Amino acid sequence: MKLPAFPVEGGCQCQAVRYRIKAAPLAIYVCHCKDCQRASGAAFSMTMMMNVGDVELISGTLAGFDKAADSGRTVRMLGCAECGTKIWNEPLASPQWINVKPGTLDDSTWARPVGNIWTDRALPWIAIDWDQPHFGTQPQNLQPLLDAYAVEVAKG
Ligand SMILES: [Zn+2]
Ligand SMILES: [Zn+2]
Repeated sequence: MKLPAFPVEGGCQCQAVRYRIKAAPLAIYVCHCKDCQRASGAAFSMTMMMNVGDVELISGTLAGFDKAADSGRTVRMLGCAECGTKIWNEPLASPQWINVKPGTLDDSTWARPVGNIWTDRALPWIAIDWDQPHFGTQPQNLQPLLDAYAVEVAKG
């Protein structure tokens, strides 16, 4: 999997929010849970796990709310205060991570997922790559997704 030269940038639909990604993600995966279907207004959401120090808000204001995830943990869901585009979320139990929505990258062509979670809730027409790490519900441990991403990045 080929990654771009960092830093790269992204932002919201109204262009008030701009952010910078300063290093490679830790993992990118797809979540099929009902909350992600609602939040995205689509069939699933994508999560790009980042070290919190590698993400920088350049402009704009983020607003959102604290959501009790299906896992029972609390996740702070943040988007542009002006236009509402979802930008990232902050898992409060894991403050070292920030989960960016890779569809908001200016160039999201390189942002490929390496696994799926909450496949029990996947819509019936979704084609899942079962050769990738996959979990029916919320995994206790995300390490298999981080490991799979590292393997793909190492392949170049
Ligand atoms: Zn906006
Ligand atoms: Zn989800």
